[in-house]
Amino acid sequence: MSVLVLVELDARAPADASMRALTLARSLGDTSVQTVVFTEAQELMGAALAEYGASDVYLVEPSAVDGYAPQAWARVLAGLAEETGATAVLAAGTDRGNEVLAHLGAITGLPMAANCTLVTPDEGKTHRLVRHRWAGLLLEEAVMEAPVALFTVATDTVAPVPAEEPSAIQVHLHKPELASGDLRVRAVESPAGAGGASLATARVVVGGGRGVGGLDGFAPLEELAGLLGGVVGVSRVVTSEGWRPHKQQVGQTGTKITPELYLACGISGAIQHIAGCAGAKHIIVINTDPAAPILAHADYAVIGDLHQVIPALVSALRAR
Ligand code: FAD
Repeated sequence: MSVLVLVELDARAPADASMRALTLARSLGDTSVQTVVFTEAQELMGAALAEYGASDVYLVEPSAVDGYAPQAWARVLAGLAEETGATAVLAAGTDRGNEVLAHLGAITGLPMAANCTLVTPDEGKTHRLVRHRWAGLLLEEAVMEAPVALFTVATDTVAPVPAEEPSAIQVHLHKPELASGDLRVRAVESPAGAGGASLATARVVVGGGRGVGGLDGFAPLEELAGLLGGVVGVSRVVTSEGWRPHKQQVGQTGTKITPELYLACGISGAIQHIAGCAGAKHIIVINTDPAAPILAHADYAVIGDLHQVIPALVSALRAR
């Protein structure tokens, strides 16, 4: 038996969310775990994926698919799933993972389940699933009947656990045949500074809410995120006001994050926001209101004005 896992990258290394998907893939029982990565950087991939028990990695040549192209990525997965005889195809429950697997479902006519937290192969072609609905407020138990199960793994639930022993991994360079229609939708350029961590997989997220005060207030948060090797995330008020784009929104109707550290600045902690950040290992809050609900979720809190606290943090970090 074999399963195929799409591995996304974060600053040229396998993303944490993908390692969670790999961990779940290993739990599917006596199965070999094959991986697909859209990169040519083979020296980085083998060891990292072997640590998580992958038996093979297919590196898709950038000459075939350069950058993110959801339908092309799905076409590559469809081909490799057939070639390897996979009984399941997994990806992280990130924006890209969900989008690519939805395309894969459309291409193959197979059902797809998003944001699974537990998958148990049953007899024959059946998988029992537990998955997040309503941003994790509900857990749904479901049965999927399909010759090949397609599912994504909730980014904040399954912990990334290396295999007991690294596997012997085989690295394959893969050059798929793609039709031009598969590449019709693709990312042709990234803004300056992009290409580092994405919100869903970043190890540090500096969050900004209404308390930031406006569009211009985000420069110190960007600076702090840069110093900490992280990215900026925001509350829905911030996106509704048009201060920042929706792709930076954390929460029920935004991205679910799982960083080591979430620094929530000027955010009250509405339940819809917490639905997106509860998977953070540590939460530090900066808020003027000692009764803000987010304090109930904080490991540490600074009760104060973020316009004073953040510059002080930045200069302390710069001094070090
Ligand atoms: P506020 O609640 O106004 O809080 C601002 C905070 O900033 C306060 O705690 C205040 O004390 C503090 N503050 C003010 N000035 C300063 C200062 N100078 N220094 C430090 N602190 C300061 N919200 C999301 O975030 N994500 C979602 O995905 C999301 N989905 C939703 C889905 C639905 C269906 C609904 C109904 C709502 C959703 N919301 C979501 C909105 C959510 O209910 C809240 O309205 C929103 O999260 C509040 O944003 P906020 O914390 O930035 O603003």
